[in-house]
Amino acid sequence: MTRRIEMRCTGCGSTDVRRDASAEWDPEVQDWVVVDTYDQSWCNSDKCDGADCFTEPFDIDTGEELREPPGSFEYIPKVEADALWAAEREKWVAECAARKERKKHEQHIGKIEKTLAAAHLPCGSN
Ligand SMILES: [Zn+2]
Repeated sequence: MTRRIEMRCTGCGSTDVRRDASAEWDPEVQDWVVVDTYDQSWCNSDKCDGADCFTEPFDIDTGEELREPPGSFEYIPKVEADALWAAEREKWVAECAARKERKKHEQHIGKIEKTLAAAHLPCGSN
């Protein structure tokens, strides 16, 4: 079964949200058809009164908050997505630390090379 999703305003939780979109005329349908949506959203609830908002996806049937996991556009439960993002962040941090350590090591080797080169000048060169 395909998950059914609803978008809710992060400010008030309303599903009465809208998003900017681009449409093209479809001669078969005889109407404008949405071909793309943009990030700009607003909420028409009484509380938000048309103000710009952010939206978050929820499962219509279970009410569970959803998110996209790393490397996918398919929504999964937020708790699972958060765990995958945390693991991804840990991986990035470890990779960054390894790069820094490698660079530090290369700089240290460079210093040793200079020191050795200076200590072993060919005879008569100074
Ligand atoms: Zn709202």
